Amino acid sequence: MHCNSLTSDIPNNRKVNKSLVEKAGESVQWTVTEIQSLLDMPFNDLIFQAQQVHRRHHDANAVQLSTLISVKTGGCSEDCGYCPQAARYHTGVENQDMLSIDSVVTAAAAAKAQGATRFCMGAAWRGPKQRDMEKVTQMISAVKALGMETCATLGMLKPEQARQLGEVGLDYYNHNLDTSPDYYEEIITTRNYQDRLDTLREVRNAGINVCCGGIVGMGETREARAGLIAQLANLDPYPNSVPVNHLVQVEGTPLYGTAVLDPLEFVRTIAAARITMPKAMVRLSAGRREMSEAVQALCFLAGANSIFYGDKLLTTGNPDVQQDKALLDKLGMQSLSASS
Ligand code: SF4
Repeated sequence: MHCNSLTSDIPNNRKVNKSLVEKAGESVQWTVTEIQSLLDMPFNDLIFQAQQVHRRHHDANAVQLSTLISVKTGGCSEDCGYCPQAARYHTGVENQDMLSIDSVVTAAAAAKAQGATRFCMGAAWRGPKQRDMEKVTQMISAVKALGMETCATLGMLKPEQARQLGEVGLDYYNHNLDTSPDYYEEIITTRNYQDRLDTLREVRNAGINVCCGGIVGMGETREARAGLIAQLANLDPYPNSVPVNHLVQVEGTPLYGTAVLDPLEFVRTIAAARITMPKAMVRLSAGRREMSEAVQALCFLAGANSIFYGDKLLTTGNPDVQQDKALLDKLGMQSLSASS
């Protein structure tokens, strides 16, 4: 077959989708329908387009490594339906007071020795109390002194708290939108979508980079996944770092027993995030341990370029560090340096 006839044979809907992909890189708003059209593309076309956008803005064989530590575990007053740390669910997670600064610094130094460039500190709070802020800011300063990038996820922030974090030079603040506005109330009722957007605004106002993503596989529709990506991509500016989590089902949480999402649908979500937020670091986050190496490789092909590294996430498991090194070697991928 002559190659011209290949071009003229492209169905109209695929030509439309191609022009959507051409939006990538422009400073534009995305509609949910447009993002759903991306998610609806033939899989190979979607991955090809995502990979092209990826290569325009990133080293396609590099991955940023972050390590996450829980600095205060369990006993949270919120009702996030996926979370084993909510006090109201019986999941076997033991409550733990805030870790000492020394033990956090020791963990950060160990993560650095393993190749992590960013150290994320998470606390199971609705938001920090003012009395927690002193210890948290000292922790951030101590980890920064090791030459690592710092990230914190502490729940909702008041303007003054965001300012305090900005003053000690916190590099990133993670606060996820979790899902689309329409599906949100199925998952969380103790805070609303606007609360989340307000915290993100305070983080930006304090000059801290925004790390913001969501969770898929919570029983949402493809349209809801498109709705989440639209919210993220339309933040002004879109987040520098976009964690895409695959629900880890924990017994005792309301979402335990949810129908498991097809892994290829997860890969599609990564691709849509890459196309609509071309310069962001798209992070393959929770749920990676449950993914085969082949699915992880497809996620990298679809534009994921950041992973959590270390044997544990906040309370759920993560692939073993040696296993990760072996996978990256197999794929010929290298880790990115700290400023990337
Ligand atoms: S996700 Fe965060 S805010 Fe929600 S219950 Fe868990 S620790 Fe609390």
